[in-house]
Amino acid sequence: AGGGQISKDSFARARRVFPDGTSRVTIERDPEPIYIERGAGSHVFDVDGRRFLDLNCNFTTLIHGHAFPPVVQALTDQIQRGSCFANPTKGEIELAELLCGRIPHVDRVRFVNTGTEAVLFAVKAARAFTRRSKIAKIEGAYHGAYDWVEVSQASAPANWGDPAQPKSIQNYQGMPDSVLDEVVVIRFNDVEGARQLLSAHARDLAAIVLDPMPSRGGLIAPTPEFIAALQETARNNGILVIADEVLNLRQGFQGASARYGLVPDVITMGKIIGGGLPIGAVGGREDVMKVFDASAGRPLLPQGGTFSANPLSMIAGLASMRHLDHAAFSHLETLGTLIRDGISRLIEKSGASLCVTGAASLFRVHPMGRPPSDYREAYLSQGGAAVMKELTRFFASNGIILPYGAAACLSTPMTRADAELVVDVFAGFLDSDQNKLDL
Ligand code: PMP
Repeated sequence: AGGGQISKDSFARARRVFPDGTSRVTIERDPEPIYIERGAGSHVFDVDGRRFLDLNCNFTTLIHGHAFPPVVQALTDQIQRGSCFANPTKGEIELAELLCGRIPHVDRVRFVNTGTEAVLFAVKAARAFTRRSKIAKIEGAYHGAYDWVEVSQASAPANWGDPAQPKSIQNYQGMPDSVLDEVVVIRFNDVEGARQLLSAHARDLAAIVLDPMPSRGGLIAPTPEFIAALQETARNNGILVIADEVLNLRQGFQGASARYGLVPDVITMGKIIGGGLPIGAVGGREDVMKVFDASAGRPLLPQGGTFSANPLSMIAGLASMRHLDHAAFSHLETLGTLIRDGISRLIEKSGASLCVTGAASLFRVHPMGRPPSDYREAYLSQGGAAVMKELTRFFASNGIILPYGAAACLSTPMTRADAELVVDVFAGFLDSDQNKLDL
């Protein structure tokens, strides 16, 4: 299900000004993107007048859905007072106070404008703090566009190498070999591998970057043993643990590390903390965050940015986060469980070779009969990608935007009826296409 006629015309125009007609590689097009006119709550309306329940929410950002009234009001008030200043504003203090008060192990925070930047500065902070240059990361995990975290982000299986010692793989031709030399790649949930690789490179490693539930790794939970092994080996060797919670902060009131028993030294945040405006944040232990401290002259790590802590992102983030109370998280958890359980039951009943993973307000359907154990399995199951494309099309033709190849997510304005609709449409998909697609 691609766009309607106005989307088609828009895409034709866009192809004359953008290399592929878009500004993001992640834009879904089938064969053209659906151009959006406006959003309201859990729904979006496209330029051709169609209405969709939005399970993308700008790649998990809009936890309160579209045009959330408190955010709209806060932004309207702020824009009349000015959009950005060279001087700080009170909004940044209030949002920082909220995060430091709420997220464990965030003693101090620093605002930037994207998750990419948050990860970039977290890695640099770890390097400045430890005076070491290498980092470790999980094979296949996505952490934005900083070269070092782009290593082994996605590649053909032929290059993967021994699973116990995955190879560092270029993300684009021309990526310097020196970058590859500085990144140690670990397989998700590989306890022994993690211990061995971290120990072997201990003297050179500044940090291990870990998204507790990597979306591209299949959106599966870390085992307690894996968390413990990483944590212990890192601590024993002076390696910092950077929890990348740009996406998964939405897993709970205190974020994902708290949910999975991880005690990070540094946490990167983004998406939900900006209320729909661009944002990123690095938070962490007071002594580590001191690398940013410029009060006595040049800091160990200078960090600026024309739009860092801009008042619009601060004010929108504050309005969004203040409404994310325990009740909001429990509502999201209930709907998430309803959808995952509902879909699982249907799959079981039908015997289809599909499964669903995820937690809290996130879920992902895979074209395989049991959850993938890591990125390699999730990647290989893409052989079943045709099924996923059909699923996304079927959902779109039933008025639901279901991300293709990414985590689907819920937002607080979603109702129980919305969640039940998701399950019903999934049932319709199994009925309609089961035989045709040979699931
Ligand atoms: N880290 C993770 C875990 C992410 O999911 C993302 C974005 N999807 C990023 C970093 C990069 O964030 P941004 O797109 O805001 O640069």
